[in-house]
Amino acid sequence: MTIKRRHFLSAGLGIAGSLALNGGRLVHGQSSNNYEFAIVGAGLFGSATARHLSTMSDDVVLIGPDEPQSRRDHQGVFASHYDASRLVRGIDPDLLWATLAKRSISRYRNIEIDSGIDFYQDIGYMMVTPGGLGEDWFNLPAMREVAADLGVGVEDLNDDDLNERFPFLQFTPGSSAVLQPQNAGFVNPRKMKAAQQRIATSQGTTIIRDVVTRIKRKGSQVEIATRDGTKLRANRVLVATGAYTNASNLLPRRLDFLIRAAMIMETEVEPDTRHNYPTTLYAKTDGEEEFWGLLMPPFRYDDGRTVLKTMDGYYGPRPLQGYDELGDWNRGNGHEDHHPTLQRALHEVFPSLSIRTTEFKPCLITDTPSHFPYIDMLDERIGVAAGGNGKSAKSSDEIGRIAAAMLQSGNWKTSLPQSVFAARFSAHTA
Ligand SMILES: Cc1cc2nc3c(=O)[nH]c(=O)nc-3n(C[C@H](O)[C@H](O)[C@H](O)COP(=O)(O)OP(=O)(O)OC[C@H]3O[C@@H](n4cnc5c(N)ncnc54)[C@H](O)[C@@H]3O)c2cc1C
Repeated sequence: MTIKRRHFLSAGLGIAGSLALNGGRLVHGQSSNNYEFAIVGAGLFGSATARHLSTMSDDVVLIGPDEPQSRRDHQGVFASHYDASRLVRGIDPDLLWATLAKRSISRYRNIEIDSGIDFYQDIGYMMVTPGGLGEDWFNLPAMREVAADLGVGVEDLNDDDLNERFPFLQFTPGSSAVLQPQNAGFVNPRKMKAAQQRIATSQGTTIIRDVVTRIKRKGSQVEIATRDGTKLRANRVLVATGAYTNASNLLPRRLDFLIRAAMIMETEVEPDTRHNYPTTLYAKTDGEEEFWGLLMPPFRYDDGRTVLKTMDGYYGPRPLQGYDELGDWNRGNGHEDHHPTLQRALHEVFPSLSIRTTEFKPCLITDTPSHFPYIDMLDERIGVAAGGNGKSAKSSDEIGRIAAAMLQSGNWKTSLPQSVFAARFSAHTA
Protein backbone atom coordinates (compact mmCIF):
# COMPACT_ATOMS: atom_id res chain seq x y z
CA MET A 1 0.00 0.00 0.00
CA THR A 2 1.27 3.46 -0.80
CA ILE A 3 0.36 6.41 1.33
CA LYS A 4 1.55 9.86 0.52
CA ARG A 5 2.16 11.60 3.78
CA ARG A 6 2.42 14.99 2.13
CA HIS A 7 -1.20 14.63 1.08
CA PHE A 8 -2.29 14.02 4.64
CA LEU A 9 -0.40 17.10 5.66
CA SER A 10 -1.74 19.30 2.91
CA ALA A 11 -5.27 17.92 3.41
CA GLY A 12 -5.01 18.89 7.05
CA LEU A 13 -4.10 22.39 5.98
CA GLY A 14 -7.08 22.49 3.63
CA ILE A 15 -5.07 23.05 0.47
CA ALA A 16 -5.07 19.63 -1.11
CA GLY A 17 -8.37 19.47 -2.88
CA SER A 18 -10.09 16.10 -2.98
CA LEU A 19 -8.53 12.94 -1.56
CA ALA A 20 -9.72 9.49 -2.51
CA LEU A 21 -8.77 5.90 -1.84
CA ASN A 22 -8.14 4.03 -5.06
CA GLY A 23 -7.31 0.33 -4.85
CA GLY A 24 -5.80 0.75 -1.39
CA ARG A 25 -3.78 3.75 -2.50
CA LEU A 26 -4.43 7.27 -1.38
CA VAL A 27 -4.39 9.47 -4.44
CA HIS A 28 -4.65 13.18 -4.89
CA GLY A 29 -6.45 14.50 -7.92
CA GLN A 30 -4.55 14.12 -11.17
CA SER A 31 -1.17 15.06 -9.84
CA SER A 32 -0.90 12.11 -7.46
CA ASN A 33 1.79 10.41 -9.53
CA ASN A 34 3.83 13.53 -10.08
CA TYR A 35 6.89 14.10 -7.93
CA GLU A 36 9.77 16.47 -7.76
CA PHE A 37 12.24 13.66 -7.06
CA ALA A 38 12.09 9.90 -7.59
CA ILE A 39 14.66 7.42 -6.30
CA VAL A 40 14.60 4.01 -7.93
CA GLY A 41 16.01 1.24 -5.73
CA ALA A 42 15.17 1.10 -2.02
CA GLY A 43 18.47 -0.46 -0.94
CA LEU A 44 21.22 1.12 1.14
CA PHE A 45 22.13 3.93 -1.27
CA GLY A 46 18.54 4.70 -2.26
CA SER A 47 17.19 4.72 1.30
CA ALA A 48 19.99 6.97 2.57
CA THR A 49 19.41 9.32 -0.37
CA ALA A 50 15.69 9.43 0.45
CA ARG A 51 16.41 10.39 4.06
CA HIS A 52 18.73 13.21 3.07
CA LEU A 53 16.63 14.43 0.16
CA SER A 54 13.50 14.54 2.30
CA THR A 55 15.16 17.14 4.51
CA MET A 56 15.35 19.35 1.39
CA SER A 57 12.01 18.52 -0.27
CA ASP A 58 8.64 17.11 0.79
CA ASP A 59 8.07 15.71 -2.69
CA VAL A 60 10.21 12.57 -2.80
CA VAL A 61 9.20 9.06 -3.86
CA LEU A 62 11.34 5.98 -3.22
CA ILE A 63 10.50 2.97 -5.39
CA GLY A 64 11.78 -0.54 -4.83
CA PRO A 65 10.70 -3.96 -3.61
CA ASP A 66 11.22 -5.43 -0.17
CA GLU A 67 13.47 -8.42 0.38
CA PRO A 68 11.87 -11.56 -1.09
CA GLN A 69 10.32 -13.98 1.42
CA SER A 70 12.15 -16.91 -0.11
CA ARG A 71 15.24 -16.42 -2.27
CA ARG A 72 15.08 -19.98 -3.63
CA ASP A 73 12.06 -19.37 -5.86
CA HIS A 74 12.14 -15.58 -6.23
CA GLN A 75 12.10 -14.50 -9.88
CA GLY A 76 12.48 -10.73 -9.35
CA VAL A 77 15.45 -8.55 -8.51
CA PHE A 78 17.80 -9.21 -5.58
CA ALA A 79 19.99 -6.89 -3.49
CA SER A 80 23.43 -6.90 -1.87
CA HIS A 81 22.28 -6.20 1.69
CA TYR A 82 20.26 -9.31 2.62
CA ASP A 83 22.45 -10.09 5.61
CA ALA A 84 22.82 -9.45 9.35
CA SER A 85 26.23 -7.76 9.33
CA ARG A 86 28.46 -5.47 7.35
CA LEU A 87 31.94 -4.56 8.52
CA VAL A 88 32.42 -0.95 9.66
CA ARG A 89 35.83 0.71 9.88
CA GLY A 90 36.93 4.30 9.75
CA ILE A 91 40.38 3.34 8.51
CA ASP A 92 41.11 2.47 4.93
CA PRO A 93 44.28 2.68 2.84
CA ASP A 94 42.43 5.24 0.70
CA LEU A 95 41.74 8.68 2.15
CA LEU A 96 38.52 9.18 0.22
CA TRP A 97 37.01 5.82 1.24
CA ALA A 98 38.01 6.52 4.83
CA THR A 99 36.35 9.94 4.62
CA LEU A 100 33.10 8.46 3.28
CA ALA A 101 33.13 5.94 6.12
CA LYS A 102 34.05 8.40 8.87
CA ARG A 103 31.33 10.86 7.89
CA SER A 104 28.74 8.08 7.76
CA ILE A 105 29.77 6.50 11.07
CA SER A 106 29.53 9.87 12.81
CA ARG A 107 25.79 9.94 11.99
CA TYR A 108 24.86 6.34 12.92
CA ARG A 109 23.81 7.08 16.49
CA ASN A 110 21.56 9.96 15.49
CA ILE A 111 19.93 7.83 12.80
CA GLU A 112 19.31 5.14 15.42
CA ILE A 113 17.79 7.67 17.82
CA ASP A 114 15.63 9.37 15.18
CA SER A 115 14.34 6.07 13.79
CA GLY A 116 14.14 4.08 17.01
CA ILE A 117 15.95 1.24 15.18
CA ASP A 118 19.33 0.02 16.49
CA PHE A 119 21.59 -1.23 13.72
CA TYR A 120 25.17 -0.48 14.80
CA GLN A 121 27.52 -2.42 17.08
CA ASP A 122 30.56 -0.36 18.09
CA ILE A 123 32.85 -3.32 18.91
CA GLY A 124 35.98 -2.24 17.04
CA TYR A 125 37.77 -3.48 13.94
CA MET A 126 41.15 -5.07 13.39
CA MET A 127 43.14 -6.06 10.39
CA VAL A 128 45.58 -8.89 10.88
CA THR A 129 48.38 -9.87 8.52
CA PRO A 130 51.67 -11.70 8.85
CA GLY A 131 53.22 -8.50 7.50
CA GLY A 132 54.89 -7.56 4.28
CA LEU A 133 51.66 -7.61 2.27
CA GLY A 134 51.34 -3.89 1.76
CA GLU A 135 48.69 -4.13 -0.93
CA ASP A 136 45.15 -3.01 -1.47
CA TRP A 137 42.92 -3.70 1.59
CA PHE A 138 45.96 -4.87 3.59
CA ASN A 139 48.20 -1.87 3.01
CA LEU A 140 49.11 -1.24 6.64
CA PRO A 141 51.43 1.76 6.13
CA ALA A 142 48.82 3.62 4.02
CA MET A 143 46.15 2.76 6.55
CA ARG A 144 48.15 4.21 9.42
CA GLU A 145 48.83 7.36 7.42
CA VAL A 146 45.14 7.85 6.58
CA ALA A 147 44.17 7.20 10.21
CA ALA A 148 46.59 9.92 11.32
CA ASP A 149 45.28 12.34 8.65
CA LEU A 150 41.68 11.84 9.78
CA GLY A 151 42.43 11.68 13.50
CA VAL A 152 41.15 8.10 13.79
CA GLY A 153 42.60 6.39 16.87
CA VAL A 154 44.37 3.09 16.13
CA GLU A 155 46.55 0.68 18.12
CA ASP A 156 49.27 -1.62 16.83
CA LEU A 157 49.19 -5.21 18.08
CA ASN A 158 52.06 -7.66 17.66
CA ASP A 159 52.01 -11.44 17.74
CA ASP A 160 52.19 -11.59 21.54
CA ASP A 161 49.40 -9.06 21.97
CA LEU A 162 47.17 -11.06 19.62
CA ASN A 163 47.85 -14.32 21.47
CA GLU A 164 47.19 -12.72 24.82
CA ARG A 165 43.98 -10.94 23.88
CA PHE A 166 42.48 -13.55 21.57
CA PRO A 167 43.96 -16.91 22.65
CA PHE A 168 41.27 -18.88 20.80
CA LEU A 169 42.24 -17.33 17.42
CA GLN A 170 45.26 -18.92 15.70
CA PHE A 171 46.78 -16.40 13.33
CA THR A 172 49.85 -17.07 11.21
CA PRO A 173 52.92 -16.87 13.49
CA GLY A 174 54.50 -13.45 13.19
CA SER A 175 51.22 -11.70 12.46
CA SER A 176 50.59 -8.14 13.51
CA ALA A 177 47.41 -6.09 13.54
CA VAL A 178 46.05 -2.59 13.34
CA LEU A 179 43.13 -2.19 15.71
CA GLN A 180 40.54 0.59 15.59
CA PRO A 181 38.94 0.06 18.99
CA GLN A 182 36.16 2.63 18.66
CA ASN A 183 33.85 3.99 15.97
CA ALA A 184 34.14 0.67 14.16
CA GLY A 185 32.49 -2.75 14.31
CA PHE A 186 29.50 -3.72 12.21
CA VAL A 187 26.05 -2.61 11.05
CA ASN A 188 23.03 -4.76 10.36
CA PRO A 189 22.32 -3.61 6.79
CA ARG A 190 18.66 -4.68 6.83
CA LYS A 191 18.02 -2.63 9.96
CA MET A 192 20.08 0.28 8.72
CA LYS A 193 17.96 0.42 5.59
CA ALA A 194 14.78 0.21 7.67
CA ALA A 195 16.02 3.07 9.87
CA GLN A 196 16.74 5.28 6.85
CA GLN A 197 13.33 4.52 5.37
CA ARG A 198 11.50 5.15 8.61
CA ILE A 199 13.03 8.63 8.94
CA ALA A 200 12.54 9.38 5.24
CA THR A 201 8.86 8.48 5.57
CA SER A 202 8.44 10.61 8.67
CA GLN A 203 9.93 13.49 6.68
CA GLY A 204 7.36 13.07 3.90
CA THR A 205 8.85 10.52 1.52
CA THR A 206 6.40 8.21 -0.25
CA ILE A 207 7.56 4.60 -0.57
CA ILE A 208 6.26 2.36 -3.35
CA ARG A 209 7.12 -1.32 -3.03
CA ASP A 210 7.41 -2.22 -6.69
CA VAL A 211 9.98 -2.98 -9.36
CA VAL A 212 10.68 -0.34 -11.98
CA THR A 213 10.56 -1.66 -15.52
CA ARG A 214 11.27 1.50 -17.54
CA ILE A 215 12.57 5.02 -17.15
CA LYS A 216 12.02 7.39 -20.03
CA ARG A 217 12.42 11.09 -20.68
CA LYS A 218 9.01 12.70 -21.38
CA GLY A 219 9.32 16.38 -22.26
CA SER A 220 10.71 18.21 -19.26
CA GLN A 221 10.04 15.24 -16.97
CA VAL A 222 10.97 11.59 -16.56
CA GLU A 223 8.34 8.86 -16.74
CA ILE A 224 8.78 5.79 -14.56
CA ALA A 225 6.81 2.60 -15.20
CA THR A 226 6.53 -0.15 -12.59
CA ARG A 227 5.77 -3.85 -12.85
CA ASP A 228 2.23 -3.49 -11.50
CA GLY A 229 1.42 -0.99 -14.25
CA THR A 230 1.79 2.27 -12.31
CA LYS A 231 3.19 5.25 -14.18
CA LEU A 232 4.83 8.08 -12.30
CA ARG A 233 6.49 11.27 -13.33
CA ALA A 234 9.30 13.13 -11.68
CA ASN A 235 11.40 16.15 -12.46
CA ARG A 236 14.58 14.33 -11.48
CA VAL A 237 15.30 10.65 -10.97
CA LEU A 238 18.13 8.84 -9.22
CA VAL A 239 18.78 5.24 -10.21
CA ALA A 240 20.18 3.34 -7.21
CA THR A 241 19.52 -0.23 -8.27
CA GLY A 242 22.89 -1.74 -7.30
CA ALA A 243 23.92 -4.93 -9.09
CA TYR A 244 20.73 -4.89 -11.18
CA THR A 245 21.34 -1.49 -12.78
CA ASN A 246 22.38 -2.91 -16.16
CA ALA A 247 20.32 -6.08 -15.93
CA SER A 248 17.16 -4.00 -15.41
CA ASN A 249 17.89 -1.97 -18.56
CA LEU A 250 16.76 1.24 -16.92
CA LEU A 251 19.45 3.53 -18.29
CA PRO A 252 20.03 4.50 -21.91
CA ARG A 253 23.67 3.37 -21.63
CA ARG A 254 25.15 0.43 -19.77
CA LEU A 255 27.45 1.26 -16.91
CA ASP A 256 30.91 -0.27 -16.72
CA PHE A 257 30.44 -2.78 -13.90
CA LEU A 258 31.79 -6.17 -12.98
CA ILE A 259 29.19 -8.13 -11.02
CA ARG A 260 31.01 -10.52 -8.69
CA ALA A 261 29.48 -13.74 -7.43
CA ALA A 262 30.30 -13.36 -3.74
CA MET A 263 29.46 -15.92 -1.08
CA ILE A 264 29.21 -15.85 2.69
CA MET A 265 29.47 -18.77 5.12
CA GLU A 266 27.21 -18.67 8.16
CA THR A 267 28.45 -21.00 10.90
CA GLU A 268 26.05 -21.56 13.74
CA VAL A 269 28.07 -22.06 16.92
CA GLU A 270 27.55 -22.76 20.60
CA PRO A 271 27.15 -19.41 22.38
CA ASP A 272 30.32 -18.65 24.35
CA THR A 273 30.78 -15.20 25.92
CA ARG A 274 34.58 -15.63 25.96
CA HIS A 275 34.69 -15.52 22.17
CA ASN A 276 34.69 -11.76 21.88
CA TYR A 277 36.83 -10.09 19.28
CA PRO A 278 36.48 -7.08 16.99
CA THR A 279 35.23 -7.40 13.44
CA THR A 280 38.33 -8.81 11.75
CA LEU A 281 39.90 -8.87 8.31
CA TYR A 282 42.59 -11.50 8.14
CA ALA A 283 45.18 -12.35 5.52
CA LYS A 284 46.69 -15.77 6.12
CA THR A 285 49.62 -16.44 3.84
CA ASP A 286 51.43 -19.49 5.12
CA GLY A 287 50.31 -23.10 4.94
CA GLU A 288 48.82 -24.90 2.00
CA GLU A 289 45.84 -22.71 1.41
CA GLU A 290 45.80 -18.96 1.55
CA PHE A 291 42.89 -17.11 2.99
CA TRP A 292 42.15 -13.45 3.09
CA GLY A 293 38.81 -12.36 4.22
CA LEU A 294 36.37 -11.47 6.90
CA LEU A 295 35.91 -13.07 10.28
CA MET A 296 32.92 -11.62 12.10
CA PRO A 297 32.70 -12.37 15.80
CA PRO A 298 29.86 -14.75 16.69
CA PHE A 299 26.71 -12.89 17.71
CA ARG A 300 23.09 -13.68 18.31
CA TYR A 301 20.85 -13.35 15.26
CA ASP A 302 17.20 -12.30 15.53
CA ASP A 303 16.14 -15.94 15.06
CA GLY A 304 18.05 -16.89 18.24
CA ARG A 305 21.02 -18.62 16.58
CA THR A 306 24.58 -17.56 17.42
CA VAL A 307 26.34 -17.17 14.09
CA LEU A 308 29.89 -16.48 12.96
CA LYS A 309 30.04 -15.12 9.42
CA THR A 310 33.05 -15.67 7.17
CA MET A 311 33.75 -14.69 3.60
CA ASP A 312 36.78 -14.36 1.39
CA GLY A 313 37.64 -12.84 -1.96
CA TYR A 314 36.76 -15.87 -4.09
CA TYR A 315 34.20 -14.90 -6.74
CA GLY A 316 34.26 -17.90 -9.06
CA PRO A 317 35.64 -18.22 -12.57
CA ARG A 318 34.04 -15.09 -14.07
CA PRO A 319 31.75 -12.14 -13.35
CA LEU A 320 28.00 -12.59 -13.75
CA GLN A 321 26.13 -11.17 -16.70
CA GLY A 322 22.46 -10.47 -17.32
CA TYR A 323 19.22 -10.82 -15.42
CA ASP A 324 18.99 -14.63 -15.61
CA GLU A 325 22.54 -15.26 -14.38
CA LEU A 326 22.11 -12.85 -11.49
CA GLY A 327 18.87 -14.55 -10.50
CA ASP A 328 20.24 -18.10 -10.82
CA TRP A 329 23.20 -17.16 -8.65
CA ASN A 330 20.99 -15.65 -5.92
CA ARG A 331 18.69 -18.68 -5.87
CA GLY A 332 21.58 -21.16 -5.55
CA ASN A 333 24.08 -22.53 -3.01
CA GLY A 334 27.07 -20.36 -3.85
CA HIS A 335 30.38 -21.82 -5.06
CA GLU A 336 30.02 -25.42 -3.94
CA ASP A 337 33.64 -26.18 -4.93
CA HIS A 338 34.78 -23.47 -2.52
CA HIS A 339 32.72 -24.53 0.51
CA PRO A 340 35.49 -26.80 1.94
CA THR A 341 38.12 -24.06 1.56
CA LEU A 342 36.15 -21.65 3.72
CA GLN A 343 35.38 -24.36 6.27
CA ARG A 344 39.07 -25.33 6.50
CA ALA A 345 40.14 -21.68 6.83
CA LEU A 346 37.72 -21.14 9.69
CA HIS A 347 38.88 -24.31 11.42
CA GLU A 348 42.51 -23.23 11.14
CA VAL A 349 41.97 -19.78 12.57
CA PHE A 350 39.44 -20.88 15.20
CA PRO A 351 40.20 -24.55 16.00
CA SER A 352 38.28 -24.71 19.30
CA LEU A 353 35.02 -23.51 17.77
CA SER A 354 32.07 -25.77 18.49
CA ILE A 355 30.06 -25.82 15.26
CA ARG A 356 26.37 -26.73 15.03
CA THR A 357 25.52 -26.06 11.37
CA THR A 358 27.04 -24.41 8.32
CA GLU A 359 25.17 -22.58 5.57
CA PHE A 360 26.41 -20.83 2.43
CA LYS A 361 24.63 -17.85 0.90
CA PRO A 362 25.19 -16.01 -2.37
CA CYS A 363 25.49 -12.24 -2.69
CA LEU A 364 26.42 -9.73 -5.40
CA ILE A 365 29.33 -7.31 -5.41
CA THR A 366 29.23 -4.50 -7.96
CA ASP A 367 32.77 -3.43 -8.85
CA THR A 368 33.61 -0.36 -10.90
CA PRO A 369 36.90 0.21 -12.76
CA SER A 370 37.37 3.44 -10.77
CA HIS A 371 37.04 1.43 -7.53
CA PHE A 372 34.57 4.07 -6.32
CA PRO A 373 30.79 4.22 -6.57
CA TYR A 374 29.34 6.11 -9.49
CA ILE A 375 27.52 9.19 -8.20
CA ASP A 376 26.77 11.22 -11.26
CA MET A 377 24.10 12.96 -13.34
CA LEU A 378 23.83 11.18 -16.70
CA ASP A 379 21.83 14.08 -18.09
CA GLU A 380 20.06 17.04 -16.49
CA ARG A 381 17.21 14.84 -15.18
CA ILE A 382 18.59 11.35 -14.54
CA GLY A 383 21.33 10.55 -12.06
CA VAL A 384 22.90 7.38 -10.75
CA ALA A 385 24.30 6.16 -7.42
CA ALA A 386 25.56 2.59 -7.77
CA GLY A 387 28.69 0.48 -7.62
CA GLY A 388 29.41 -0.37 -3.98
CA ASN A 389 32.70 -2.21 -4.72
CA GLY A 390 32.00 -4.61 -1.84
CA LYS A 391 32.54 -2.00 0.86
CA SER A 392 29.87 0.67 0.68
CA ALA A 393 27.34 -0.44 3.29
CA LYS A 394 29.24 1.35 6.04
CA SER A 395 29.53 4.48 3.88
CA SER A 396 26.05 4.43 2.40
CA ASP A 397 24.82 7.35 4.46
CA GLU A 398 27.46 9.72 3.10
CA ILE A 399 27.01 8.33 -0.42
CA GLY A 400 23.28 9.05 -0.02
CA ARG A 401 23.98 12.56 1.25
CA ILE A 402 26.17 13.32 -1.77
CA ALA A 403 23.60 11.83 -4.16
CA ALA A 404 20.76 13.79 -2.54
CA ALA A 405 22.60 17.10 -2.85
CA MET A 406 23.43 16.28 -6.48
CA LEU A 407 19.86 15.38 -7.37
CA GLN A 408 18.38 18.38 -5.62
CA SER A 409 20.58 20.87 -7.47
CA GLY A 410 21.33 18.91 -10.64
CA ASN A 411 24.99 19.67 -9.96
CA TRP A 412 27.90 18.41 -7.91
CA LYS A 413 27.52 19.92 -4.44
CA THR A 414 30.18 18.44 -2.22
CA SER A 415 33.81 19.22 -1.47
CA LEU A 416 34.92 15.74 -2.57
CA PRO A 417 36.16 15.63 -6.19
CA GLN A 418 33.38 14.77 -8.67
CA SER A 419 35.79 13.11 -11.11
CA VAL A 420 36.34 10.24 -8.66
CA PHE A 421 32.63 9.41 -8.74
CA ALA A 422 32.11 9.94 -12.48
CA ALA A 423 30.11 7.19 -14.20
CA ARG A 424 31.89 5.12 -16.83
CA PHE A 425 30.09 3.30 -19.61
CA SER A 426 30.55 0.07 -21.45
CA ALA A 427 28.94 -1.56 -24.44
CA HIS A 428 29.80 -5.01 -23.18
CA THR A 429 29.22 -5.49 -19.46
CA ALA A 430 25.88 -6.55 -18.03
C1 LIG B 1 28.81 -10.74 0.69
C2 LIG B 1 28.95 -9.25 0.81
C3 LIG B 1 29.62 -8.73 1.90
C4 LIG B 1 29.74 -7.35 2.05
N1 LIG B 1 30.41 -6.87 3.13
C5 LIG B 1 30.47 -5.54 3.34
C6 LIG B 1 31.07 -5.05 4.52
O1 LIG B 1 31.51 -5.84 5.38
N2 LIG B 1 31.09 -3.71 4.73
C7 LIG B 1 30.59 -2.84 3.81
O2 LIG B 1 30.65 -1.62 4.05
N3 LIG B 1 30.02 -3.28 2.65
C8 LIG B 1 29.95 -4.60 2.41
N4 LIG B 1 29.35 -5.09 1.27
C9 LIG B 1 28.88 -4.14 0.25
C10 LIG B 1 27.53 -3.52 0.51
O3 LIG B 1 26.58 -4.46 0.96
C11 LIG B 1 27.07 -2.85 -0.78
O4 LIG B 1 28.10 -1.96 -1.19
C12 LIG B 1 25.77 -2.10 -0.62
O5 LIG B 1 24.71 -2.98 -0.30
C13 LIG B 1 25.44 -1.36 -1.90
O6 LIG B 1 24.22 -0.66 -1.73
P1 LIG B 1 23.30 -0.34 -2.99
O7 LIG B 1 22.18 0.48 -2.49
O8 LIG B 1 24.13 0.13 -4.12
O9 LIG B 1 22.77 -1.78 -3.44
P2 LIG B 1 21.66 -2.68 -2.74
O10 LIG B 1 21.83 -2.61 -1.27
O11 LIG B 1 21.76 -4.00 -3.40
O12 LIG B 1 20.31 -1.97 -3.14
C14 LIG B 1 19.86 -1.92 -4.48
C15 LIG B 1 18.35 -1.97 -4.43
O13 LIG B 1 17.85 -1.79 -5.74
C16 LIG B 1 16.69 -2.55 -5.87
N5 LIG B 1 16.40 -2.74 -7.28
C17 LIG B 1 17.12 -3.43 -8.20
N6 LIG B 1 16.53 -3.36 -9.40
C18 LIG B 1 15.41 -2.62 -9.24
C19 LIG B 1 14.38 -2.19 -10.11
N7 LIG B 1 14.39 -2.50 -11.41
N8 LIG B 1 13.36 -1.44 -9.61
C20 LIG B 1 13.36 -1.09 -8.29
N9 LIG B 1 14.30 -1.48 -7.43
C21 LIG B 1 15.32 -2.22 -7.89
C22 LIG B 1 16.97 -3.83 -5.10
O14 LIG B 1 15.76 -4.43 -4.70
C23 LIG B 1 17.79 -3.30 -3.94
O15 LIG B 1 17.01 -3.10 -2.79
C24 LIG B 1 29.20 -6.46 1.08
C25 LIG B 1 28.52 -6.99 -0.02
C26 LIG B 1 28.39 -8.37 -0.16
C27 LIG B 1 27.67 -8.92 -1.34
